[in-house]
Amino acid sequence: MTTITLVQGDITGQSADAIVNAANSSLLGGGGVDGAIHRRGGPEILAECRGLRASQYGKGLPTGRAVATTAGRLDARWVIHTVGPVHSAGEDRSALLASCYRESLRVADELGARTVAFPAVSTGVYGWPMDDGARIAVETVRGARTAVEEVRFVLFDDRAYAAFAARLA
Ligand code: ADP
Repeated sequence: MTTITLVQGDITGQSADAIVNAANSSLLGGGGVDGAIHRRGGPEILAECRGLRASQYGKGLPTGRAVATTAGRLDARWVIHTVGPVHSAGEDRSALLASCYRESLRVADELGARTVAFPAVSTGVYGWPMDDGARIAVETVRGARTAVEEVRFVLFDDRAYAAFAARLA
């Protein structure tokens, strides 16, 4: 059984086996949570991302997939980078957003991670409506077959926290 917990705050201050990054496909960092993870985690994370690009993801990490690196100076063993879909009004991309959570948990299982902290993937710059992002996150984690014992959603603001709390209730 996986326990789902909610925390409001900055994911880079969390202690967990793995911290999930809402990355972009370049794996070279960006704004939002991605920028915060690289800033606080230090250059080791980016160095490993560059290595992954060179060896496996020259065309970028595909949307919906996940890959792990060191967590650098973060209080975690790994960062799991996943690429959320950009929200589209004309196309239903929710399967790709669900895939981010499922693939991140699959990578966590491969690593042996038991506690995993997730941000609300795609709900920032990528424009996913928060309520729907929370629904997909909670449903997908509840439906996942994983040995991860705790999935902790780390929500940056009141609105995000309230959306996830409503889904969990
Ligand atoms: P995306 O490009 O996938 O939308 P963003 O980083 O822009 O990624 O936003 C994803 C979510 O992460 C948003 O809800 C945003 O408010 C939140 N966020 C931004 N910085 C942090 C942080 N340091 N810790 C936790 N969540 C964060």
